[in-house]
Amino acid sequence: MRFKLAFAAYNAGTGRTEADLQDPLFISPLLALRARGRNSSLITHHSSLRTLPPLPACIVPILLLFLFPSILAAQTSQPDWTKVEDETMRHFQALLRMDTSDPPGNEAPAAEYLKTVLEREGIEAKILSLDSKRPNLVARLRGNGKKRPILIMGHTDVVSVDPAKWTHPPFSATREGGYVYGRGAIDDKDNVVACLMVMLLLKRMNVPLDRDVIFLAEAGEEGSYQYGIDFMMKQHWPEIDAEYCFAEGGTIVSTGGKVRHAEIQTSEKIPYRVKLTARGPAGHGSVPLRSNAIVHLSQAVGRVAAWQTPMRLNDTTRAYFERLAAISPPEESARYKNVANTEKTAAIQEYFAVKEPHHHSMLRTSISPNMITGGYRVNVIPSQAEATLDVRALPDEDISHLLAEIGKVINDPAVEVTKVERLTRPATKPSRLDTEAFRLTEEAVKRHYGVVTLPTMSTGATDMSFLRARGVECYGIGPMRDVEDGPKGFGAHSDQERILEEALHKFVRFHWDIVVNLAKAGVPQ
Ligand SMILES: [Zn+2]
Repeated sequence: MRFKLAFAAYNAGTGRTEADLQDPLFISPLLALRARGRNSSLITHHSSLRTLPPLPACIVPILLLFLFPSILAAQTSQPDWTKVEDETMRHFQALLRMDTSDPPGNEAPAAEYLKTVLEREGIEAKILSLDSKRPNLVARLRGNGKKRPILIMGHTDVVSVDPAKWTHPPFSATREGGYVYGRGAIDDKDNVVACLMVMLLLKRMNVPLDRDVIFLAEAGEEGSYQYGIDFMMKQHWPEIDAEYCFAEGGTIVSTGGKVRHAEIQTSEKIPYRVKLTARGPAGHGSVPLRSNAIVHLSQAVGRVAAWQTPMRLNDTTRAYFERLAAISPPEESARYKNVANTEKTAAIQEYFAVKEPHHHSMLRTSISPNMITGGYRVNVIPSQAEATLDVRALPDEDISHLLAEIGKVINDPAVEVTKVERLTRPATKPSRLDTEAFRLTEEAVKRHYGVVTLPTMSTGATDMSFLRARGVECYGIGPMRDVEDGPKGFGAHSDQERILEEALHKFVRFHWDIVVNLAKAGVPQ
């Protein structure tokens, strides 16, 4: 009975089956725990153990078997999730109520708040900053060092708001109809609060760790990363050096009220800014010239827009389309399956360009002409005109080769192609899909949401690219989102922002599950 109960408690949280108990990989960590626990607090809370009289050696194995469940329950039993939900909501609302709009940032109240909460529970936490108004917070739970650390992170800054567009004030954290409203609700105070709760629970439950768990609440992710990740990488790398990292960038996709699949970000495109400058003689508008700079620039922009850059798959996008094909209705499935089929790909890519532009962009380095300037008076032919292209390169793109290709496509000596400085992020290879971290994430997805995981390459950029460039295998995660909510105006960076309370709470459990399974002591690699 005792055994059954303990097992049920364990099973409820982890999804382990009874068959797992026969598995040597499952048993051995328990033996390790038993060995490690002899002098630890783990055993000392079992006061009955201390009162046991000495036993003959032959009884010990039987006793151990009998005791495993209680050790197991003490070790891996689940938090009281109802209490956790109340506490999560309290911290989440407190963070949402801080106006950390970037610019100007002002992440200090959020970093201080987190530090106070963590330190109150005996977790070491530090504030590190390039500018005291824009601090980062780093907290660390120490493991036994058998494995390299994992880094969990979220950013405390949010994009600016136009309060007039909000039904509920943007920093009110109003709860209504099962949602919490506020700037940062899904970008990225959801990740911040999930990381915070994971740290608190690991500490409170005294989970023995094979690796350190580091929490970074970073400043400046929304366009001023010189205060955040860039500063941390350059000046405090040992504080965040890790084998794996988890941050924003993924989501659990729900449409029509049903969870469809999980997207775990394993790669991202790299933004560049490219300028086209057309030059020609100035003149009187009453005498049109073939050399008119605006005419040359317009043709150049037209040619670039009509040019389809070559398609190229990587490990992430290949797996993404294969897995998406496996869960899509027949017609869509056929498109995803044949994306690299030489006979069919042209038509599929054309379909994507019109109907699924996100997929079209995922297949290639994309170019979007987004700014154009030239001319200042109606009767003057200007001598110069410029267009700015937003280039989102595949991680392995050779950018100088790309500039040369753009030049060839334009094929006009009057138009110069140059790369302009842009606050950009380093180009990196996709994170591996064969790691313990990715496997455990996929398992957690299955357990909590019952769906398949698609590794994804973001068309936008995140701070994970800095970490990937230093060899950290990074995975973007996030809570469940209704796809329909974005177009309604409640997405990240939208006029309003909100999260389903239920999605937030489930995300905390999912996050906890990944971190515990990846960091707890005694699991062989
Ligand atoms: Zn974000």
